[in-house]
Amino acid sequence: MIDWDAVREEVTGYLQDLIRFDTTNPPGNETVAARYLEEILRREGFEPTLVESEPGRGNILATLPGGDEKTLMLLGHTDVVAVEPEHWTHPPFSGALVDGYVWGRGALDMKNMVAANLMVFLLLKRQGVALDRDIVFAATADEEAGKGDHGPGWIMDHRPELWDAPLIITEGGGSDFAVGDQRFVTCQTGQKGLCRLRVVARGTPGHGSMPHADSAILKLSKALAGLQGAVLPAHISASVRKFVEGIAARRPLEEAETWRQLLDEATCDQALARLPIDEEWRRELGAVLRNTASVTMLQAGSKINVIPGAATAWIDGRLAPGQTQDSFAAELRACFGDEVEIAIDQYTPPLEAAADTELYRTIAAVMARREPDTPVLPYLMPAGTDAKHIVPRRPETQIYGFMPYRQQPGTEEMKLIHGHDERTSVAELRYAVEVLYEIVCTFAGRG
Ligand SMILES: [Zn+2]
Repeated sequence: MIDWDAVREEVTGYLQDLIRFDTTNPPGNETVAARYLEEILRREGFEPTLVESEPGRGNILATLPGGDEKTLMLLGHTDVVAVEPEHWTHPPFSGALVDGYVWGRGALDMKNMVAANLMVFLLLKRQGVALDRDIVFAATADEEAGKGDHGPGWIMDHRPELWDAPLIITEGGGSDFAVGDQRFVTCQTGQKGLCRLRVVARGTPGHGSMPHADSAILKLSKALAGLQGAVLPAHISASVRKFVEGIAARRPLEEAETWRQLLDEATCDQALARLPIDEEWRRELGAVLRNTASVTMLQAGSKINVIPGAATAWIDGRLAPGQTQDSFAAELRACFGDEVEIAIDQYTPPLEAAADTELYRTIAAVMARREPDTPVLPYLMPAGTDAKHIVPRRPETQIYGFMPYRQQPGTEEMKLIHGHDERTSVAELRYAVEVLYEIVCTFAGRG
C-alpha cells in the first residue's frame, strides 16, 4: 500500500526545491534543475541522461523499462517565465509553504507537474509495478521563450536516440471548470498553430511639404482598417466539436441548444454572445472557433517632414486545426485588399490528436472512476505547448495535456499562470500524483 500522506510530503519537497532554482527563461539555466533531478533519480537506482544543448540549458531523461508496447513519456519543462517580485506576497523563488500552498514561479506552470511526474516515476519503481511498456520521465528546457530551440526539439535533432516517445502526457489540460453547477475536466488534445507575418504597404517617398496620393502609411491604414470588426470564417475542429457537444449534453435544453449553435458557422457568433459564461472564457472560446489575427506592432517613417516609401504592420496570427499558412493568408487578403504585401516570418502548424485513442480513453476512464459526475472533454488550446516542437518532427506522436488540478476560487490557473502570486495547494499536488499514477498503472500495468 502507498502511504499517500508521505507521498504528499515528499512531492511537496520536490516542488519547493525546484521552485528555488531560478530558471527564468531567458536565460533559462535549466541545468541546475536537471542536476537536482539527476541526483534523485540516481539515488533511486535509475540511470538518467543529462544533455545540454549549450552550457546551462540542461534536459534530463530517464527510462523505467517495461514490455514492448509503445513507450509512454511523462514530459515537463523546467523553465519559467519572468517575475516582478515587488508584486508577490511571498518571494517568487522561495518555494514558501504557507497554509497548504506552495508559492512561487512555476508552482502551476509547470514545476508542479515535473514534481508530480517524478513522484509517479519513483513510485512505479518502488512498487515494482509490472509494465507492458517503457515509461520515460523527461524534464526539458526552453518551453517558455522565443523559438524553444534548447528543449525537446534540440534532443530530437541532435540526440534522436534519446527520444522514444510515441505517447506523451504533459501540460495543457487536466483542470476542471464549471458551467452552471456542472463540472467538467479538460484533456488537451490540440493547440492552435502560429503564423507571424508582416503586412507591408509601399508608396512613393517624398517631402512632407508636398503630399501626393501614393502614401504607404495611408495604404497600410486602409488595409488594417479592413480587420476592424472583420469576422474570419469559423473552422470547427474535432476537439472543439466534442468539447461543445460534451457540455451541451449536460446542460438544460434551451442552453444546450445555444451551445450547439456554436458549431454552426451561421449561428456561432450570436450563440457565443448569449452563452452564460464569463467574458474571459467567451474570448477564449471565440479564439478556438477560427483563425485569429492581432495587429501587435507598427513601423513607418523616421522624420516628421519625410513621406516614407514603406509602412509595416506585424500580425500575430493563430490557426485553427486543419488550417495552413496559405489558407490564413487568403483570409487576411480578403480583409486587407490587394494594395499590401503579406510576408510570413514564422509558421508552426496547428496540432490535433484524436480523442478516441487508448490513452485518451484511459484518462477518461480513470477520471470517471474518481470523479463520476465530471466528464473529461477534449480541449483545444488557443496557445501552444512543447507539442509544437515534437509533432512536426515525429508526426506519429499522440500527445495529451493532462495535469490533474481542481481549481479553487481565487486560485484559478488562468489568473495565476504567468501572473503574480503563482501557487498551488499541496492537496492538489497529491491529487495529481494519485491520478497520474492511476492513469499510468491502468494504461501500462500488466494484469
Ligand atoms: Zn508551461
